[in-house]
Amino acid sequence: MCADLLKMGEQVRLLEEGGVHLFHIDVMDGHFVPNLTLGPDFVAAIRGATELPIDCHLMVADPDSLIPVFADAGANILIPHLEAPHHIDRTLRLIGDVGCKAGVALNPATPIEGLEHVLELVELVVVMSVNPGFAGQKFIPYVLDKVARLRRYLGSRDVDVGIMVDGGVTVELIPKLAAAGADIVVAGSSCLFLKDVPLADALAELLAVARQSE
Ligand code: ZN
Repeated sequence: MCADLLKMGEQVRLLEEGGVHLFHIDVMDGHFVPNLTLGPDFVAAIRGATELPIDCHLMVADPDSLIPVFADAGANILIPHLEAPHHIDRTLRLIGDVGCKAGVALNPATPIEGLEHVLELVELVVVMSVNPGFAGQKFIPYVLDKVARLRRYLGSRDVDVGIMVDGGVTVELIPKLAAAGADIVVAGSSCLFLKDVPLADALAELLAVARQSE
């Protein structure tokens, strides 16, 4: 959602050649969050432009009805919010049924203990570091400690689940997030799609810092 929509094909190529690992697509429905963004046709267009994995972050109130739609569009990983559906267990199983990997996202103030009974069903936990809905928001500082606590929590349960951090991540935050236990950071407007730096330059700096932090 932070990319230049009029230059999407060009930017996807540049990012793929530059070394990104996956494309993260923010889907908003105007109900779960107060904004509307990208839909299945957009995902299908990106699918046609890259072999890299695509994850769809479903910031929607009713993910169950959209899961088959985004799977058909070519998404590899589907990430509903823990807070959104009434039956998260059913929702996560549905993602497996349509042949995708499942992640689950937590809003900044949602406690990690809510993950207790769904850890077996997910490969990824997405820790939101802004309140979802809009690009360009500032990283909420307490999330750094939340990532560290989540890493310990996952370690104590002996599960192979990755941690993705999403929202307001700057280049300066990447080493701190990696040290806290993050595996993947979502690069949005704060560290990649900067208006006053060419995208290739921003990507090179970002990936250099990310590789040093591995
Ligand atoms: Zn996202």
